[in-house]
Amino acid sequence: MTRVTVWNEYRHEQQDPAIAAIYPQGIHGQIASFLQAAGFTTRTATLDEPEHGLTDAVLNETDVLIWWGHIAHNEVDDSVVARIQQWVLKGMGLIVLHSGHMSKIFMRLMGTSCDLKWREADEQERIFVIDPTHDIVKGIPESFVLEKEEMYGEHFDIPVPDETLLLSWFEGGNVFRSGITYKRGNGRIFYFQPGHESYPTYYNTHIQKIICNGVEYCAPRGNCYPVYGKDKNHYPISGAEK
Ligand code: ZN
Repeated sequence: MTRVTVWNEYRHEQQDPAIAAIYPQGIHGQIASFLQAAGFTTRTATLDEPEHGLTDAVLNETDVLIWWGHIAHNEVDDSVVARIQQWVLKGMGLIVLHSGHMSKIFMRLMGTSCDLKWREADEQERIFVIDPTHDIVKGIPESFVLEKEEMYGEHFDIPVPDETLLLSWFEGGNVFRSGITYKRGNGRIFYFQPGHESYPTYYNTHIQKIICNGVEYCAPRGNCYPVYGKDKNHYPISGAEK
């Protein structure tokens, strides 16, 4: 059973009643609830918990970490960020949602500014599947519409993705690489753009399905984590191994 930890800074929902009305259990609560319904073993963690709820003990029991953050990126402790990075390099999956593009962990893993163009104007977003072979878009139509989303537009300052599977068009005319993957070390990373806090995006069944598929895609598969450093083994050409 794949074990997911849903992390949320959990600030907008506590500060703004309009956002609390959309996500009464917090964004993390809503994401955890559809993941649980899909059969994943799910827990949540938030910024204000000690060590942001992301101790080594928690991460050791996490196959995939989901990250939602926005106004409090700078409050995330650098030592926790370094810890998460190490777990990703060892094989933990990471899904970064929406404004998490500017989170410390995503920027550290990417090595670029991760900046983009944005606009809050209640724009319609049409999401196109541009890699129909990809596991993350299993069960998703060729395209679908979100009635209102925050516009995220190119250029998105990221390294060239390993895979680009979703492309979005916004009412104002902008386009955006809205679903991309990377590998870093032994870990798989999926960045997925929708999910502005003032819209009910995480109730959309296509969005839920893409996140569920993303969890399966990013989960470690029990592959061997390499041992680095001085190699005590020899690998004879003859094949006469002793
Ligand atoms: Zn937003």
